[in-house]
Amino acid sequence: MSDKVLSIAGVTRTFPAQGGGTPTLALQPTDLTITPGEFVAILGPSGCGKSTLLRIVAGLDRPTAGQVTLDGVPVTGPGPDRGMVFQSYTLFPWLTVEQNIRFGLRERDVPEAEQAEIAGRLIARTGLRGFERHWPKQLSGGMQQRTALARALANDPEMLLLDEPFGALDHQTRELMQELLLEIWQGDRKTVLFVTHDIDEAVFLATRVLVMSARPGRVKAVVDVPLPYPRDWTVKTSPEFASLKARLMGEIREEVRKAAAG
Ligand code: ADP
Ligand code: MG
Repeated sequence: MSDKVLSIAGVTRTFPAQGGGTPTLALQPTDLTITPGEFVAILGPSGCGKSTLLRIVAGLDRPTAGQVTLDGVPVTGPGPDRGMVFQSYTLFPWLTVEQNIRFGLRERDVPEAEQAEIAGRLIARTGLRGFERHWPKQLSGGMQQRTALARALANDPEMLLLDEPFGALDHQTRELMQELLLEIWQGDRKTVLFVTHDIDEAVFLATRVLVMSARPGRVKAVVDVPLPYPRDWTVKTSPEFASLKARLMGEIREEVRKAAAG
């Protein structure tokens, strides 16, 4: 269980103008407090600044103003306390499944025997047994994302930062991956920030859903999801699920329309 509070205080991001154009305000001042062990979904139309916000929390990008702190310590760069998974497949193509999972451990000079033990456990947990020696290009999209998830978990991070991790998968694979992620989260209650534009996915997974406005992004609504865990796919057919979904649809429709209008 993670025990560090993530605080996002007055974070804004403006991207400089390209070749004489106007600068892009991607994020309006954003304040958020995420308590340890929460599963927060960030829902919003394309281009509203979801990835920008997540990259700032990851330390891969710097805010123009404001600050992100983890347990009071400013985030100034990436670190093993925050594991990331992106939508596009980002495994190292020259490393096998097992080597990909061990990558961060090798970087930190974790002893070989411990690397093997951690990798073995995560391979079992993510359903990758038998694929240890496969190369990324030999894997289906779902298997690649299982590997990416195992790699992110290998450092035993405080937080998982997931940017549309299942966005490129077919519907059935995606549902299996959602269930796998929930199982993992229920097991060790790491804090999760999960970016998606899929309302069903957000409601199914999260304890809390943040709806972002069209660009420049700000948190427009916060919706608690009081559905009990463990959740499995049958929850998607419940009236509570439908009513949460309807509420989020109402919140987001307007933003999608604004985003589409330019
Ligand atoms: P989302 O993930 O919600 O689709 P992003 O955070 O990727 O949105 O982007 C928000 C806005 O910032 C978009 O208008 C995008 O074009 C712009 N943007 C993102 N990254 C950069 C960058 N590195 N340089 C210039 N503009 C960027
Ligand atoms: Mg994005």
